[in-house]
Amino acid sequence: MKRLILLGVLIGVGALSMSAAQPPAAPAGPRVIDIQKLKDTLYVLTTSTPVNPATFSGGNVAVFITDGGVTLVDTKLNGWGQAMLDKIKGVTDKPVTTIINTHTHGDHTGNNGFFGANVEVVTHENTKTNMEKMDAFKGDGARFLPKKTYKDKLTVGSGKDRIDLYYFGPAHTNGDTFIVFPALRVLHTGDVFAWKDAPFCDRNNGGSCVELPRTLQKVIAGIKDVDTIIPGHTTMQTPKDLQDFQRFTADLLSHATNEMKAGKSVDETTASFKVDKYPGYKNERVKAAVQAVYDELKK
Ligand SMILES: [Zn+2]
Repeated sequence: MKRLILLGVLIGVGALSMSAAQPPAAPAGPRVIDIQKLKDTLYVLTTSTPVNPATFSGGNVAVFITDGGVTLVDTKLNGWGQAMLDKIKGVTDKPVTTIINTHTHGDHTGNNGFFGANVEVVTHENTKTNMEKMDAFKGDGARFLPKKTYKDKLTVGSGKDRIDLYYFGPAHTNGDTFIVFPALRVLHTGDVFAWKDAPFCDRNNGGSCVELPRTLQKVIAGIKDVDTIIPGHTTMQTPKDLQDFQRFTADLLSHATNEMKAGKSVDETTASFKVDKYPGYKNERVKAAVQAVYDELKK
């Protein structure tokens, strides 16, 4: 019984950190977000560990200062808007004019409404469809849905202010945008590359752990001239780190596929997957990813 309760708590924490369609009740205590300077015109409102709901603010947010205003990539969890704005005001007096959401989850879209209905929200077309299913964007909240969507690629702005948005296929969800700041050689991956552990594939929003390694292969082949990567939920990474992550996800997929064919259970397959050859990697999310592959292949 105790084990069951513990499992429930763990799943609850996992669901909160990763999909958070419903923001948690307002946690007590001061809401503090750190800001990291990457370039003169690009900052990151950094993430904190999802394990502590009182301090978890949501994913990494890019703050890009252009001639015409500030573009944000993602907006963290509902309730953290003022803490975000306080940090943004510390580095620029320009208004937020554009929001790009990497995907639908509440820890990346939670403060779209805080920044107002006049801000232009841009997402992949499938992410708009996914957002329409969220309570936060129903009724009055529909004003904060994306006004601009795209299918394969979209460029916003020009010259030093240019931003390229790419879609390469299903992965974390079916609407994951990869955002490149070409003049700065920086890429924001959203949660397709969230951490050094197995990926979370949200099958309710069209995500696929079977497609994810292939989608990442297209990202690596299609996006060049980048030095710095802003991941979904951890510290800044390099293109080499992204390649390692792609190999990790491909290894995990082939392992799960082979073991499933051999009649092994999810637990057995999880236990026999070795993360040691990937330095710095954890295996806390391997079982959920193995389960996702099994569920997907069974269909
Ligand atoms: Zn997510």
